[in-house]
Amino acid sequence: MSTCERGVVTPRRVPFGISVLGGPTTVIDIGGSRLVCDPTFDPPSDYGYLQKLTGPAADEAAVGAVDIALVSHDVHPDNLDNAGRAFALSAPVVLTTATAAARLGGPAVALDPWTTWSAPAGELRITAVPARHGPADGERNDEGFVNCEVTGFVIEADDGPTVYVSGDNASLQLVREIRECVGPIDVAVLFAGSASVPTKFEGRPLSLTPERAAAAAEVLGAPHVVVAHQDGWRHFATGAADTRAAFHAAGIADRLCPAPLGHWCVPDQGDRLSPPPG
Ligand SMILES: [Zn+2]
Repeated sequence: MSTCERGVVTPRRVPFGISVLGGPTTVIDIGGSRLVCDPTFDPPSDYGYLQKLTGPAADEAAVGAVDIALVSHDVHPDNLDNAGRAFALSAPVVLTTATAAARLGGPAVALDPWTTWSAPAGELRITAVPARHGPADGERNDEGFVNCEVTGFVIEADDGPTVYVSGDNASLQLVREIRECVGPIDVAVLFAGSASVPTKFEGRPLSLTPERAAAAAEVLGAPHVVVAHQDGWRHFATGAADTRAAFHAAGIADRLCPAPLGHWCVPDQGDRLSPPPG
């Protein structure tokens, strides 16, 4: 395995680590900051067209205060539920799309694709990268987006790894463009799960399938892959076992983070991404 597990998430920060808490919700400790991406902390709930089946593996208290919330999109409860919205808005900074920032208000900062937000001391840089939330020929909404506006993120820290967070993206073409523009990605956080809703685009996937997640990992050349957005909701057609099978079929299963939900995933000792001891 290229990654190893270092216990459960607590408010105590680690030098570098990523943990999936359930659904898309991911905690990232990097460059001295704690980030949460697409916070969802509601218990199992029925949102009408979407049903949440399980609560988070770690709650708000376990995560503690974060410095930055990343919101790939705000209009789908599987990516931002009620408790997650409150949690995000309690962060000093929320980075998201222009349309979401206008709706969220407060600490939300609009990041258009290929614009970069830098921490005050410059130690952390977060760039919005494109995402497409459905098939290439999917009907576009009034704002011109398939399904809705979504952003991915590339996170860079001084002396740290480069992390790509896909958000709800179904496009390998965009993954290719991101790899070309950003350069090597050390850790890819891919939102998979083959999300599917019968009323949208004939039920075709709104996020990466297992096979397309494996292809995205290959396109990115990412040595470490953390897969999120594949559990806890009824509309996720595929789960972790399907992802493992697809990565195995592609011969890259050793890139997958093996940590259970709510546990840290960090690169192995000896790897160039290894955090300092302690
Ligand atoms: Zn969505």
